[in-house]
Formats: sequence, C-alpha cells, structure tokens
Amino acid sequence: MLTLAIQKSGRLSEKTVKLLHECGIAFENGGSSKLKSKASNFPMQILYLRDDDIPECVADGIADIGIVGENIYREKNRPLKIIERLGFARCRLSIAVPKSMEYRNAGDLNGLNIATSYPNILKTFLDEKKINANVHEISGSVEIAPGIGLADAIFDIVSTGSTLLSNGLREVETVIRSEAVLVVGEKLAAEKQELLNKLLFRIRAVQTAGNRKYILLNAPNDRIKDICKLLPGMKSPTIMPLSTEGWSSVHSVIEEDEFWEKIEALKAAGAQGILVIPIEKMIL
Ligand code: ATP
Ligand code: MG
Repeated sequence: MLTLAIQKSGRLSEKTVKLLHECGIAFENGGSSKLKSKASNFPMQILYLRDDDIPECVADGIADIGIVGENIYREKNRPLKIIERLGFARCRLSIAVPKSMEYRNAGDLNGLNIATSYPNILKTFLDEKKINANVHEISGSVEIAPGIGLADAIFDIVSTGSTLLSNGLREVETVIRSEAVLVVGEKLAAEKQELLNKLLFRIRAVQTAGNRKYILLNAPNDRIKDICKLLPGMKSPTIMPLSTEGWSSVHSVIEEDEFWEKIEALKAAGAQGILVIPIEKMIL
C-alpha cells in the first residue's frame, strides 16, 4: 500500500483531489474532520495534513509520497526529490518594498529588515547575492509588516500582485517560481515503487491530455491536403469519407495553446462544422 500526504484544506487541496479522481482513484474526500482515507480501487491511503508538515512526513517515512508546493519543499529542505511537476498552484516568491522606496538593484536591500515566512529560501538568495540584510521570520500576514513598522521589505508568495498593491508594496525581485509537485523520500520499497510507477503513468496521461483537444471537422476533399498541414495530430490526422460525395471528416489532436489560431487558419483553408472536444486521458 502506498501512502500519499496531501494538503487538508487550502489552495492545493481541491486541485490535488481533482487530479487523483482524474487518475481514476476513488476515495472519500477528507473534508474538515478526516485525517486519512483509503482508496477503494487502488492500494493507496491518503493522509490530510497542513502543507508545512508534508515534507517532513514524507522524509520520515510516515507517508511515501506527497503533493506540496515547491516553495514549501524548498523551504523545508528535507531529503526528498521531486518526481513530477503538476502544473497547478503556480505562484512565485518575491521580494517587495514600499512603493515610495528607491530601488535600483538587490544591493539596495543591504541593511534592511525583511519579513518572511520563508527564511531559508531568503537567506540562500541573500547569501548568493552577498547581501547583508536582517531576516525577520513571521508566520503569516507578511504583507502588512512594512505598513506597521515591523520590517522595511518583505519576501512572500505573489500570484497576481494585487495583495502587494493594496498594501502599498512593489515587487522588485522574483526569487523562485513555484507549482505543486509530487515528492518522494530517498528510498522506497520495491512493491511501493511499483505502485508509484502506476500512479505516475496515470498522472502523466491526465497531464498530457489536459492541454490537448480532440478536433473534428468536415472539408471538401480538394482541401484536405492543406488542412492536414495545419493538423499534425499524434501521428497524422484520421480522414473518413462523408456520405456526401467529395467531402471528408478529418479528426486530429491539437494543443490548447494554439487552439484559436488554428481554428482561424482551418476555416480559411475551407474547414466547416468544426467540433473541439476535451480529452480525458492520453497515452503517448
Ligand atoms: P496550511 O493550512 O495547509 O498550512 P497555508 O495557508 O499555509 O495552508 P495555502 O494558502 O493553502 O497555504 O497555500 C498552499 C500552497 O498553494 C502554497 O504553499 C503555494 O504553493 C500555493 N499558493 C499559495 N498562494 C497561491 C496563489 N495565490 N495562487 C496560486 N498558488 C498559491
Ligand atoms: Mg502552510
């Protein structure tokens, strides 16, 4: 049995649970009261923890694997490795200073008091840049520290930057970028490794499908060549004749990112009746 530690409730939990469900793993959601639950169709149990406790729990072997923000993984600096980046809970850890402060480069941080909940990551950054600043560790509401005179600058999570703005702060250095990651301890028994490989296979199939769409369209046969050039597909597009003489249906896979651009080009090339359908799983 594989034990997975996930965040009990917070910005990681909903997407983590969604990913596991998309991997076909059925379990009762932790909700507010549960500490753990067992999957009914996969040999896995899930532990619900505060995100800060996940790295330690995996390093100590209480859980075999964990899903946590890369920021926490880096800050806790436990003997773990990232086995898969999961692409959600994207944010960055940045230094911000009051808007009124003059700031040219990291050297201007010398001698300042910087408030943060990420002292280790900050110290590493300051050491690398040979900056002598005072790291002031606080556990929450870091963004209000300069406003109440507790610090001159802050080092904290930024996603859109609106919290900084409303506290009169300006982002000046991006130190790391973070996303949810799947972490594993240093050694795993062979039987658990096998289960982990199964889980990884499923996660990758979901991730690969996630940014691709299945596309179907109709086109006159004399346009098919041009249309196929726009649709590389997994190998090449599938072409099937329509019952209307001289017309075919073309099926392929496209990337989400290039979706709108492709649709325009396909229409211009003579495609009609275009359907775009989500793909649930995809194995390359
Ligand atoms: P816990 O109670 O588990 O300790 P928390 O309050 O420390 O939770 P959350 O705010 O739920 O943490 O954030 C969890 C993780 O989600 C963060 O460590 C970070 O990786 C990511 N994250 C935080 N804020 C954002 C955001 N605004 N946008 C996207 N991801 C974020
Ligand atoms: Mg936390």
